[in-house]
Amino acid sequence: MSSNVVTLNTFLYPWLSKSFLELTRNKIPHSLLLFAQKDIGELHFGLELANYLLCESAGSKPCGECEACHWVRQGNHPDLFIVVPQALKHLLPIALEDEQVGEEGEDKKQSKFIRIEQIRNIISSNELGSYRGGKRVVLIYPIEAMQAEAANCLLKTLEEPSNQLHFILLTNQLEKILPTIRSRCHLFPIPRPSLELAVNWLRSQLPQEYSDQVLEQKLSLHTGSPLKVISSLNEKTLDDSIITHQLSQCKLLRSGEIIELLGQYALLDILNSILKWSFDMNLVLFGQKPRYFPQLEGQMKTACGNLNKRSFQQFLASLKDDMRLANHPLFPKVQLDAVLMRYKQLF
Ligand SMILES: [Zn+2]
Repeated sequence: MSSNVVTLNTFLYPWLSKSFLELTRNKIPHSLLLFAQKDIGELHFGLELANYLLCESAGSKPCGECEACHWVRQGNHPDLFIVVPQALKHLLPIALEDEQVGEEGEDKKQSKFIRIEQIRNIISSNELGSYRGGKRVVLIYPIEAMQAEAANCLLKTLEEPSNQLHFILLTNQLEKILPTIRSRCHLFPIPRPSLELAVNWLRSQLPQEYSDQVLEQKLSLHTGSPLKVISSLNEKTLDDSIITHQLSQCKLLRSGEIIELLGQYALLDILNSILKWSFDMNLVLFGQKPRYFPQLEGQMKTACGNLNKRSFQQFLASLKDDMRLANHPLFPKVQLDAVLMRYKQLF
């Protein structure tokens, strides 16, 4: 269930193998700018490409067997330079030695930027020449995190390309990249997975209880990124269905079942679920389709049977007031219980 899953002998997520083959079919340009939507395995793609360039067996993908491949996987290949901001280090599927990610220090540990020292370090290491006598690869992610000085420093190196040196630059925001950098690089888009591939992959990663339909819904909530779906599940986001099931019981609602969730989730999250359901109920009351829970339209219609439109709207307004106070509630249980009581009294 980790978002850093490395399968078999590759860093690539399966939906990226086709693009990878497309790119490696021809000679790899020395300065490559890969661009992708965030969280679709783009960093893994860059790493696989770096591994491919450094692998010492001549195949169409990294062999995973040679000394160079072992070193890449252990994070200590002497001709591979990976530059990421400290705050994004955890996204890498390999452990890096610390000097590659910057210096010590509390502030810098969480830095979201790529600093000039990081770029200078790789440039001075490169001046020493290749350790293995072959290619050297610099992988930088994300390029938009480079501070201006760092970008200028990189630009100088890109202007004087050296034969054995490869730059793999990665970005999630192509529009933010300096035109001077863009124009010196070969651009290559990393596509997001098709819905079919994304669902298939999620099905292989998750318990069977998730139907294709549910997985498709989750993907559309997470910009089509299966990795985001997995991390949202790991974060234990509140499952609305527990709450909507109780709310659909109208006056038979068991408040305790919802109040119990307070141990694991914030009051605001729970109220937010109640608000989404109530917002939808209001739409149904006025003959419209629900927006957040279209699959529950039937249950909402039944629940709306004896509902007074005006009282319901008052309830909806009071719920919004409650949410304003919910960030730092003094008595979350009391507040939630009161909301649920008011809801029950509507029926
Ligand atoms: Zn190899």
